[in-house]
Amino acid sequence: MTHDYTSGPLERGPRGSFTRHSGDIRYIVIHYLWSRIDTDWPMSKVAQMHERENGWNGPGYHYLTRRGGSLEYGRPEWARGAHVRGHNDRSIGLAYEGGRIPGDNQKGHDTRTQEQRDRLNHLVSALKAKYPNAQVVGHRDLTATQCPGFDAKAWWTKQKAKPAPEGAKPMSGDKGLDDPRGMIAVIGAALVGVFLWIRRR
Ligand SMILES: [Zn+2]
Repeated sequence: MTHDYTSGPLERGPRGSFTRHSGDIRYIVIHYLWSRIDTDWPMSKVAQMHERENGWNGPGYHYLTRRGGSLEYGRPEWARGAHVRGHNDRSIGLAYEGGRIPGDNQKGHDTRTQEQRDRLNHLVSALKAKYPNAQVVGHRDLTATQCPGFDAKAWWTKQKAKPAPEGAKPMSGDKGLDDPRGMIAVIGAALVGVFLWIRRR
């Protein structure tokens, strides 16, 4: 019986039930897999490795963003993961596929594609809406590692500061009735009209 990690999280690990977080989520932790950018690393492969080589109860992460931007699930959000030593309780682990460039087996790199950046932005936004007190950090902000290959705190601060996408804002120069200034002008003109009409009688 193999779990389909593209359809939803694993509700129970191969070695038994997961442990619940002891309280509110404190950290949303971003990781890379440190998989080579020319190699496929779906969550099913991460699960196999974590189970066989690390002896863990299923994959350690909660989510995985693939190079093409698709999202795969690991542990359910309510369950403690296995992704950051000392902080697995009350944290959610998000990994992205990649981080390793062929020919460099020493350093981690930010190899996120635009699709991965967009997906990560949506995912973190959704998690922040659910867990408003959680801090967005990189693995390296909590323990000595290069993971995830970029400054996750600074990245998230920049995402938050971005203006609303084009199309969400009213067009400049188009003062319709949905624009408060347009509405005030129409009401003002109507009042002047009524006033002049009364005076003429
Ligand atoms: Zn990590």
